Amino acid sequence: MKYVDEFRDPQAARRLVERIRARSTRPIQLMEFCGGHTHAIFKIGLRQLLPPHLQLRSGPGCPVCVTSSADLERAMALARLPDVILTTYGDMVRVPGSRGSLQEARAAGADVRIVYSTLDALEIARKNPARSVVFLGVGFETTAPTTAAALLQAEVEGIANFSVLCLHKLTPPATRAILDAGEVRLDGVLGPGHVTTIIGADAWRFLPEQYGISCVVAGFEPLDILSGVAALVDLHEEGQADVRNAYGRSVSSEGNRVAQEMMGRLFEVSTADWRGFGPIPESGYALREAYAHRDAAHIFPVEVTAVPEPKGCRCGEVLRGVMEPTECGLFRTVCSPRTPVGPCMVSSEGACAAYYRYGAET
Ligand code: SF4
Repeated sequence: MKYVDEFRDPQAARRLVERIRARSTRPIQLMEFCGGHTHAIFKIGLRQLLPPHLQLRSGPGCPVCVTSSADLERAMALARLPDVILTTYGDMVRVPGSRGSLQEARAAGADVRIVYSTLDALEIARKNPARSVVFLGVGFETTAPTTAAALLQAEVEGIANFSVLCLHKLTPPATRAILDAGEVRLDGVLGPGHVTTIIGADAWRFLPEQYGISCVVAGFEPLDILSGVAALVDLHEEGQADVRNAYGRSVSSEGNRVAQEMMGRLFEVSTADWRGFGPIPESGYALREAYAHRDAAHIFPVEVTAVPEPKGCRCGEVLRGVMEPTECGLFRTVCSPRTPVGPCMVSSEGACAAYYRYGAET
């Protein structure tokens, strides 16, 4: 198949659903790590098409959602500093913090600007040499290379006023944390297609080898997801655990070596603070010592204190796959995309937003 329409072919989708229903004979619980998968699954109504004993759980794959309250507070504190321009992708500005959101900080006078790429942030730095331009580096392995590229470009051009608050996170350690916690039983993982394009399918080998469960990497079109679920069902029915790649047009075993090399030059793996999990060892990227002059946390050492989660919000449990958004007492009554209480309702990749948008019932 070559064109996107072919990956949306209703006849082929029907055949895959029939195959899954015919093959799946015993209970199976799968997790889609990625928020993009969660939204795609709801959009195509996949849950309703699957047999009742085949359960899909949403995972923590929404970078905005897993940014901890303390890290959000740090970003807010940076935004309020005089002469700082804080640049960020759009969803982050609406996440409620203890003293409002970045959007509200902007209304109160902070210079917070939404960008569509790290290169936009770099351009703002070029045009404002007398100001400090901080890019809020939020995202998984998919977006971390673009942050690395902007930092290297700033080095090449000698753009001294550009820095990054580096909050990038790694997906395999969070999956491991879910399995180690034992709060939710999983028989397989639908692997995140975009992330795995960078890290390579082999990065998921630890799932069969150490946890005895399969991972099938999938893309985001209906046939991609159905093929991924079908492969996971096949492996489960055969009593096998393996890593398979159902997104061959984008993902290889070894991943994108150029991106990996670039990230390796800029970043070192470090402990990162995840909403809903707390600190997870070796789950984030920090700037290497040699790039401390580009590290906003180093340049502007603002004090932040631990901040409680919004009252009544269950984002942490939603992100760990322990509960569904509809089980949260605030879902739809108090919390909606217009009046979000937690980040999972704000982000375009958030599970609560998906459940709300596609009409899941409480
Ligand atoms: Fe938090 Fe709202 Fe989701 Fe409840 S519905 S977990 S309050 S984001």
